[in-house]
Amino acid sequence: MTLIEQLSGVVGAAQVVTGSDMNKWSTDWIGTYKSNPIAVVRPANTQEVSAIMALAHSTKTPVVPVSGNTGLAGGTYAEGALMLSLERLNRVRTIKPDAQVAIVEAGVILSAIHDAADEHDLIFPVTFGAKGSAQIGGILSTNAGGSNVVRYGNTREQCLGLEVVMADGQIMDLMSELHKDNSGLNLRDLVIGAEGTLGIITAAVLRLVPKPRAYATAMIAPANMSAALSVLNAVQSATGGTVEAFEFMPKAYIDMHMAKFPDARAPFETDHPITVMIEVAATAKRDATPDENGVVPIIEALETVLAEEFETGRLVDAVVAQNEAQRVEMWARREAAAEVVLHYDPIINNDIAVPLDQVASFLDRATGMVQAVDAGATDISISHLGDGNIHYTIYPSSRDAALKDKIVETVEDLTRQLGGSFSAEHGIGLSKLASMARRKDRVALATMRQIKTALDPHNILNPGKVIPPA
Ligand SMILES: Cc1cc2nc3c(=O)[nH]c(=O)nc-3n(C[C@H](O)[C@H](O)[C@H](O)COP(=O)(O)OP(=O)(O)OC[C@H]3O[C@@H](n4cnc5c(N)ncnc54)[C@H](O)[C@@H]3O)c2cc1C
Repeated sequence: MTLIEQLSGVVGAAQVVTGSDMNKWSTDWIGTYKSNPIAVVRPANTQEVSAIMALAHSTKTPVVPVSGNTGLAGGTYAEGALMLSLERLNRVRTIKPDAQVAIVEAGVILSAIHDAADEHDLIFPVTFGAKGSAQIGGILSTNAGGSNVVRYGNTREQCLGLEVVMADGQIMDLMSELHKDNSGLNLRDLVIGAEGTLGIITAAVLRLVPKPRAYATAMIAPANMSAALSVLNAVQSATGGTVEAFEFMPKAYIDMHMAKFPDARAPFETDHPITVMIEVAATAKRDATPDENGVVPIIEALETVLAEEFETGRLVDAVVAQNEAQRVEMWARREAAAEVVLHYDPIINNDIAVPLDQVASFLDRATGMVQAVDAGATDISISHLGDGNIHYTIYPSSRDAALKDKIVETVEDLTRQLGGSFSAEHGIGLSKLASMARRKDRVALATMRQIKTALDPHNILNPGKVIPPA
């Protein structure tokens, strides 16, 4: 029997996709990585995933798991490999409101988890622009961040338990709902962020948190980046650490956004070089209930701090959302960033983390350093500023691979000088492999290779991604 026939025996012929029907999977979201998979197989449950992996293990067939295919690091490139789509494992199995957990299958789309939690006045506090397509298996596998990390942490922090199909098809049951579990090595956290190189995530137990009763959202224009950090700290201090988003957009982005969406409004009446969207959330009733004059305490608290910051000169402008429509407009501007900025060629898409007090230094120095290598390069930085994550996109003057590499090394040098990382939230995939080889600690790389060999001796799980060869 051929592999396709054997796979059809597991999932049914209709769930083994070949030829041009694979188009939606054979290109990544940005359009940089195009590949020809052997087939895309679409199992319906964990047992079928297990049977597929057992077959792949015995035939030494490479397998690339795919969820929403919105990843930004080339992690789903699948030349000559079998793609394993988790999209039919799409059930929210249960929400336990008292324990505040959701038990979901790997193929559930992020916005569907948001909707399911919302029915119980809870939230799953991971959010980003691709929430309508990205699936929880892919989100866990990239340990995605997004706009709420400043308050809640990355996806890893939201996961209590996992079910994982190993390279040989065995099912590892780590579906714990426990907040404390020190029973040996933490294999859950090892699989999270492994981008499909150590196992296939088929289900997860997710931590939910109470739904905020009110939000205060504003666009602010700090005088400079250091002032932006002071404003963040002042708002955190005044509101008890309830800042949920602190998102930097430069004027260049505002201009690009309005060019792409001509109906969009400018955030301020006058232009400012630095724009930040800030959101504060109130979960307690006393902070969220309007008084007799209709004043909502959390909004008043934000307005008071912003007014004080205006007096000091750290803030030069601010617009507070007066209703939900204005809040949605502010979020839409931020969440369009990937669509606005990334669909260009040639492009270098850096996803950098630096300590919060080094963001200003990075932004001050990066353009000059890059233009010293490529005088014709232009750049744009959009940042999850509240957690020090800078999406530093460069448009080099040519497609020359050596030039691109030199530019990337320049950015890596600066990042390293500032105590940062070349990969913040998008992962490594294929696109950051060279950076891993150059920059990651040698002992850490050797340890990763040993773990990979132990868990996947035939190197069939997303081979060639994340861990560079020795
Ligand atoms: C518009 C847009 C905005 C974005 N904004 C952000 C942002 O703010 N923050 C952020 O962190 N990221 C952001 N991203 C990228 C983000 O990493 C991905 O959207 C998401 O985390 C990946 O989910 P996915 O379901 O699309 O996974 P995929 O792209 O399908 O897969 C991602 C990786 O995980 C592996 N994988 C997939 N499913 C599984 C599984 N079940 N088990 C094991 N391995 C698996 C794949 O092989 C691949 O290596 C954005 C992307 C887009 C397109």
